[in-house]
Formats: sequence, structure tokens, C-alpha cells
Amino acid sequence: MQRLEAFKFQLQPNGAQERNLRRFAGACRFVYNEALALQKARCERGEKKLGYAGLCERLTQWRNSAQTPWLRDAPTHPLQQALQDLERAYKNFFAQRAGFPQFKKRGQRDSFRYPDPKQFKLDQANGRLFLPKLGWMRLRLSRAVLGAPRNATVSLRAGKWSVSIQTEREVEPVPQATGAIGIDVGIARFATFSDGRFLAPLNSFRGHEARLRSAQRALSRKVKFSHNWTKAKARVQRIYARIGNVRGDYLHKATSAISKNHAMVCIEDLQVKHLSKSAAGTAENPGRNVRAKAGLNKSILDQGWFEFRRQLQYKLQWAGGMLIAVPPRNTSQQCPVCDCVSAANRLTQARFCCVECLHEDNADVVGAKNILARGHRVVACGEAVSRCVSSAASSKQEPTEATEREATHA
Ligand SMILES: [Zn+2]
Repeated sequence: MQRLEAFKFQLQPNGAQERNLRRFAGACRFVYNEALALQKARCERGEKKLGYAGLCERLTQWRNSAQTPWLRDAPTHPLQQALQDLERAYKNFFAQRAGFPQFKKRGQRDSFRYPDPKQFKLDQANGRLFLPKLGWMRLRLSRAVLGAPRNATVSLRAGKWSVSIQTEREVEPVPQATGAIGIDVGIARFATFSDGRFLAPLNSFRGHEARLRSAQRALSRKVKFSHNWTKAKARVQRIYARIGNVRGDYLHKATSAISKNHAMVCIEDLQVKHLSKSAAGTAENPGRNVRAKAGLNKSILDQGWFEFRRQLQYKLQWAGGMLIAVPPRNTSQQCPVCDCVSAANRLTQARFCCVECLHEDNADVVGAKNILARGHRVVACGEAVSRCVSSAASSKQEPTEATEREATHA
């Protein structure tokens, strides 16, 4: 099995390198925005959208133009990659996977990519990385990079530069773990297993909320773009980055342990999008419990269930196991002993007591047992499994990109 994996490390640039990193990220942003403006203008004039080759021609013109001489100082390949990124943004828009491409702003996901492994050199023995027009740079090599490098992405987050090196290698999945488990995710407990164990809730956001609130209040009192405003803004960003790191660490540890120890993992096929829908409704038809739902939404988004599932999917695939998503209907109201389904079975949030056979248990454990039983049924029928496995194969296998996306939605 071909395994794509990303290894992310913090860079330790010197002063000149750091200035150049900012300039190169700025040049890539400029090229992206310029190309987007060009495409928009062409569209308004009723002309056809330029293809990638056409954009590359324009890029050469911009690099040679007297108005933007600094573009020549930036490495070519990341600039071309910025055009590729725009092409992909258009493709995602036309496929209705994303909104219309937006102009990039400074300080929001500053990054650029060297798309070709010939462009950079990783010296693992000496803990350094060579990047064109930047030279050798130190990096915190916290683990060995396995496989052949394919591309390198340099990014800035909360004042720190890091590099994510994507590699490719051939791995034989050796299924070591046996046994199946059902997992019920929830607010009171992050995850409850069908064998009765559970993981405490993460709530990384709630823990940092007071600190974040005071930092945001301080920021709002500053004059925009002043020196003190910049400092206050950096503080807010550091807290967000910390929240993202805490969450990323927790999720990775949890999903690694689960996928190493089980061959089959069953979860509810929950749509986080639907769960966290706002209860506000429309002006003519206002919703009920808006405040309560808003608090619940915060908790739902804070838990990172979607990320939990994404990580489980690729880690199980790497370990030779499988993830099975089962229909979530009535998992919390069905008795695992006599199969009776009733809302009365669940009198309180935490306790399950069957009205037919008087079976009593923790409500989340009952949910997890039901999920496992449904998972076994799904496997026995043979349906849905192939669907699940194929979707796992097409999903991205880049663990490090996860924390970035998490941080932006926080
Ligand atoms: Zn029962």
C-alpha cells in the first residue's frame, strides 16, 4: 500500500531568512491575487478564463515588469504553485465543493509550497533544510522523516514558521490488532467505548476561554494597526494556536491508541454540519432554545468530532483495520438486551433503564454497544463496507494539515 504522510517541523530561520520568508509568502499572495483579479476582469468582459499555461505566461510578464521588480527575487516554483492553487480553487468552486475564490490577505494562512522534491534538500543528520533562495536553515527535527519527499510547504502561524514535508513510501499493512469496538461520541464524555471505558471531554476551547476573552477585549480597545494593537493581536493568535495544539495532540493520541488496538471500529454516521446548525431560524419563523443550542454548538465544534473521524479513517487504513459508519437512528434509545426502542428507556441524560426487561447501564455505554452491534450487522450484509473503505482511500492522509484547519475555525 502506498502511504502518503506529512512530517511537520518548526523552522529556525535567522534574521535575513525570516525577512525573506515573509517576502516570498507576500510574493505568492500577490501573484494569487493578481491572477484572480485578472480572471475576474476577463469574466466581466465576457472573455474566456485563462488556463494554467496562460497564467504562467502572465507570471513571466509580471516578473519582468518594472512595477514589480521584487517578484524576481522570489523563487519561481512557489509562484507557479500559487497559480496552481488558484486553478484548484476554481475547480472546487465549479464542482460546488467550495465558494468562489477569495482574495488572500496578509497574516491569514501565510504560506508557500515547493512542489518539486528536486527543489529542496533535507539533511537529517545535521537537522537542516535547504530551500532555494533561502539557503540552509535549521529546523527542529523531532522525528525521523520516512519515505521519499514529494513537496514541502512553508507556513507561518502565530509568529512561528514551520515546514511540512510530504513523503511517499510503500508499506505493507500488517494487521496486528484483532477485535471490534463501538464508539459513541458525546458532550459529557468525548468518547465512550462499548467495553465501558471512556475518554474525558476535551473542551480545550472552554479552558482557554477566559484568557482568550480578556485578550480579545484588550485588542478591541487598541487603535487599529498601531504598535500596541499588533502586540495584542499576536497575543490573541498565540492563544488560538495553543488551543489548536492542545486539541491536535489530544485527538492524535486518542485515535492512534484506538487504531492500534482494534481491527474494526464502528462509529455513528453523524453529520456535524447538521448537529451544529444554528437554532435561530428566520424572522417569520424564529427558532426555540436559541441560546441553549448556541452553547451546544460551541461544545460540538469544540470537540473536533469530524477531525476524530478523519484521523481514525486514515490511521485504521494504515494499520490494516477498518472504520464502519452506522446509521445513528435511535442508538441511545434501543435496549441492547431485548432490542426494545422507547424514549422512556432514557429517563435521564446519563442513565439507561429498559422499560421491558429492566436492563440498566450508563446511557453512553448502551449507545456504544448498539453502534457495535449495528457495525457487525453492516459487515454481515457486506454492504456499505466497500463504500466506507473506498471513501477512506480517497480521503487525504495529511495529519499535519489537520491542526491548521482546526485552528482557523476555532
Ligand atoms: Zn430491554
